[in-house]
Amino acid sequence: MSITSAQARDRASWKQAAARAQPRIETRLYIDGEYVDALDGGRFATVNPADGEVIAEMAAGTSKDVDRAVAAARRAFKSGAWAKMAPRARMAVLYRFADLIDEHAEELAVLETLDMGKPIADVVNVDLPAVCETLRYFAECIDKVEGSVTSTASNIMHFVLREPVGVVAAITPWNYPLLMATWKIAPALAAGNSVVLKPAEQAPMSCLRLAALFVEAGGPPGVLNVVNGDGEVAGQALARHMDVAKVSFTGSTEVGKLMLQYAGLSNMKRVALECGGKSPHIVTKECGDLDAAAMAVAWGVFYNQGEVCNAGSRLLVHEAVKDELLEKVVAVAGRIQPGDPLDPKTRMGAIVDETQLGRVLGYIESGKSEGAGLHLGGARVREDTGGYYVEPTIFDAVSNDMTIAREEIFGPVLSALSFSELDEAIAVANDTIYGLSAGIWTDDVNVAHRAARAIKAGIVWVNTFDAGDISSPFGGFKQSGFGRDKSIHALDKFTDLKAIWIALRD
Ligand code: NAD
Repeated sequence: MSITSAQARDRASWKQAAARAQPRIETRLYIDGEYVDALDGGRFATVNPADGEVIAEMAAGTSKDVDRAVAAARRAFKSGAWAKMAPRARMAVLYRFADLIDEHAEELAVLETLDMGKPIADVVNVDLPAVCETLRYFAECIDKVEGSVTSTASNIMHFVLREPVGVVAAITPWNYPLLMATWKIAPALAAGNSVVLKPAEQAPMSCLRLAALFVEAGGPPGVLNVVNGDGEVAGQALARHMDVAKVSFTGSTEVGKLMLQYAGLSNMKRVALECGGKSPHIVTKECGDLDAAAMAVAWGVFYNQGEVCNAGSRLLVHEAVKDELLEKVVAVAGRIQPGDPLDPKTRMGAIVDETQLGRVLGYIESGKSEGAGLHLGGARVREDTGGYYVEPTIFDAVSNDMTIAREEIFGPVLSALSFSELDEAIAVANDTIYGLSAGIWTDDVNVAHRAARAIKAGIVWVNTFDAGDISSPFGGFKQSGFGRDKSIHALDKFTDLKAIWIALRD
């Protein structure tokens, strides 16, 4: 069933949907078109962050399962059943895949919310439409992205083709399980590759369901496989596999660096990395709409419990407007209080697991002990539910050498710093190992242009934040990674250029 808005139903109705989905949760791996147990029979518990209860015991894939999945993907690729399928037929499968996701929206949405703790409203109203849009966008590209014929001498026919690379490993994080997976799967499949997806072990349930829908849509078995398992075990085996041609990774910078090592130690596979961030959100004194800026600052760091790679976690605000802006941000934050993720009115859910909860609370403690001023929040809340909730938290009087200004927290914590000159703000904005995104609020077009060019980041928003479109490339500079998801450019990662020369006889 297709759902257009989570709010079309009440909390009781979503609770019933979760109760319906729970007994049918698929816990096995998906390899070569069927669900299979892990060869070693290992399992691990996945916990509902909303109440701390175990939801299911998931199969834990090991290198043996990775071998099996890569072999299936390679067989499928070599058979040409997908890679050589007529472009418009491949396109039809991806469209049908998107339609099936739409039809299974209820089930996928509750799986995502149960597993990851994000508000059902965000999954239904934002993530699932974006998943379908991504698939449809790359489906449309299939017969529109062309090779080229170049201007060589008249006795030479020279043309450049784009070929699929072969078996693609997609290793993804838990913060947007379905969407991060689709940002990789959609262009990889559109280009004709086979895929082995390793979702994050914290939230694998929705991706396991997704793979079967691809086959139901007419995708050949073996073209899309999912091996759930521990990162260091299944993830490492996949990234080091000699028959994997490309690894497309989204996750932490720390693990991203391991991907480069794995590639070097194995077959020099191509690597694309979407990693962490510590995005600066600059509000200048020329900002003409402090209400809009405050709204963007608050949602820019508290949305998805702050578990967003491009979260605007560093607020750099001009000293002349700082107090007024912070007051407005606090007012917006008051409306983003943690609640039951299955309640469609909830705007902030639970932190993904106990480990991440501990990490976020640890950063809050470090902010306090290093001398930042706790301006709002700072505590775990709703503890009686057994779930992992943290209230929106703002630190004031932060300096850029404090841990909370330098490290990615991946939780609902805003660090506010003030500045007096634009150059100082730009210098602080760039004083980070990351370079994923940045925002700037100003009514002065000169300031906007100067800052947008000076900030080293893959995305710069002016007078908005976290705006996105499938046509816009997403990815970072510096240690936020390289390669881009979304947009036509994403196809570059999943194809190799082949130059063909044909010498013509006179
Ligand atoms: P993570 O790096 O811990 O894990 C990501 C994936 O890598 C998971 O599937 C995990 O199992 C796997 N993995 C972990 N250790 C591994 C190893 N040794 N070898 C191989 N695979 C391994 O990240 P996470 O905690 O799941 O996600 C949070 C991080 O993801 C944050 O840093 C966030 O900024 C980043 N992220 C970035 C983007 C982006 O587009 N730039 C988007 C979403 C999340």
